[in-house]
Amino acid sequence: MNCLIIKRKGFYTNRFEYVLKSGWGIMDFELTAEQKMIVETAAEIAHDYGPEYWREKDKNHEFPEDFWKSLAEAGFPGIVIPEKYGGGGMGMFEMLLAMETLVSEGCGLAGEWFLCLSSVFGGLSITKHGNDAQKEKYLPRIAKGMEFCLALTEPDAGTNTLNIKTLAVEDGNDYVVNGQKIFISGADRAKGMLLVTRTTPLEKAPKRTLGLTLFLVDLPNPAVEIIPIEKHGINYSKTFEVYISDLRVPRESVLGEVDKGWYLLLDTLNPERMSFSAAACGLGLLAIKKAVEYAKERKVFEAPIGAHQAIQFPLAEAKAKIEAARLLNYKAAWLFDRGQECGAEANMAKVAAVEAGTEAVYHAMQTFGGYGYAVEYDVERWWREVNLIRLAPVTHQMALAFIGQHVLGLPKSY
Ligand SMILES: Cc1cc2nc3c(=O)[nH]c(=O)nc-3n(C[C@H](O)[C@H](O)[C@H](O)COP(=O)(O)OP(=O)(O)OC[C@H]3O[C@@H](n4cnc5c(N)ncnc54)[C@H](O)[C@@H]3O)c2cc1C
Repeated sequence: MNCLIIKRKGFYTNRFEYVLKSGWGIMDFELTAEQKMIVETAAEIAHDYGPEYWREKDKNHEFPEDFWKSLAEAGFPGIVIPEKYGGGGMGMFEMLLAMETLVSEGCGLAGEWFLCLSSVFGGLSITKHGNDAQKEKYLPRIAKGMEFCLALTEPDAGTNTLNIKTLAVEDGNDYVVNGQKIFISGADRAKGMLLVTRTTPLEKAPKRTLGLTLFLVDLPNPAVEIIPIEKHGINYSKTFEVYISDLRVPRESVLGEVDKGWYLLLDTLNPERMSFSAAACGLGLLAIKKAVEYAKERKVFEAPIGAHQAIQFPLAEAKAKIEAARLLNYKAAWLFDRGQECGAEANMAKVAAVEAGTEAVYHAMQTFGGYGYAVEYDVERWWREVNLIRLAPVTHQMALAFIGQHVLGLPKSY
C-alpha cells in the first residue's frame, strides 16, 4: 500500500514514543508502518496547532486555514480515497487513528470535524457509491483538501430522517429540487454538497426506506441560500439553515440509484458516527491529560489535589471507559472496512464513547476548580465541544433506540 502521508519537516523518531505514552500503547504491536506514520504525523500536526491556536479561532469565529492546509499537504483528507484518485487507499480504521490523535494531542473537536465534512461526507460517500465520472470529478480534489458538506437534517423531520420533505422532481434530463435543511455545517465554504432528497414522497413510497435519492451538488449555487446559526461551540466552523429554491441538478449528479438513497446513506452515517465517537474519546483523553498534569501540581491542602480519591478516581474511571469505547469503535471500523454490517457496533461505540468522553471532560473541569471555567484553561471549550456529540450526528436516545431494537430485539420504542 502506497501511503500518501508524508513525514513532515522537523519530525523526530521518538515522537511516536510520546504518542504511545499518551494512550496508544494498546495498539502499537498491531499498527502497520503506514498506520504508525499516520499517528506520528497527526501528533506532529496537532502539536503545531495546539489549544492556544484553537482558543483564538473559537473566540474569533475564524476558519483555521493554515491547519486545514497542513492536513491537506500531509494527505489526510485522502486517507479513505483510492490511490488511483490521489488518495491513501486506506479505510475508516486509519481515519479514526488520524482523528483520535489530532483531537487528543491538542486540536480538540477540530481534529475530527473538518475531516468528517470533507472525507466522510464527500470522499467516502463517492468512493463507495460514485460512478467513474463522479469519482474522477471529485475524488482527486477532495484528496487535496476540497471542502464538502452533508445536507440531511430538516426542521420538520429532525431525527425522523425518513420524514424529510425536500423534493427532487424529474424535468427532462434534470431534477428540480425544492426544500429546506437545517444545521448544515461548512455550507459556506464547501464546493460540494451531498444533498439528501425525496424523489418519491413518503406517502407514495412502497416502503418508508424507499424514495430517498442522494445528489452531488456543486456549490456555491444561487438556488441554495444559506443563513448562519449562532451556536454554543465549534465556532471556527459555521453551521447553516439552507433554503433550496428550484435548484436544477443534472441526472448525472445522482449518487447511486434513484429512490434507494437510504441504503447508500448508511455507508456515510455509520462512519460519521465512528468519527464522532473518535472525537468523544479524543476529547476525553485530552481533558484527562490536562487534568492529570494540573492535579499533580495543584496543592491547596498538604497533598496535591490528585492524591484525593474524589479527584483521582473519576478521572481513572473515565480513562478506563474511554479505552473500552475506543476498542469498540475500532471494531466498527474494522467491520465497515471489510464491507460487513457495522450498525450495531457503530451505535454501541457512539453510546459508550459519548458517555465516557463527556464524563472525562466533566471531571477534568471539576479538577481545575474555578480555573476550569476560565477560557484560558481550555476545558470549558472542550466541554462545549463534547456536548454536541450527545446531539449529533445521532442523538444519544436514537442510538439507544437502535441498540434496543436491532441488537436486543426489543419492540420498537417509538
Ligand atoms: C452544531 C451542529 C452541527 C450539525 N451539522 C449537521 C450537518 O452538517 N448536516 C446535517 O444534515 N445535520 C447536522 N446537524 C443536525 C443533527 O444531526 C441533528 O440536530 C440531530 O440529528 C437531532 O435532530 P433535531 O435537532 O431535529 O432533534 P429532534 O429530532 O427534534 O429531537 C429532539 C430530542 O428528542 C429526542 N427524540 C426524538 N424522537 C425520539 C424518540 N423516538 N425516542 C426517544 N427520543 C426521541 C431526541 O433524541 C432529542 O433529544 C448538526 C447539528 C448541530 C447541533
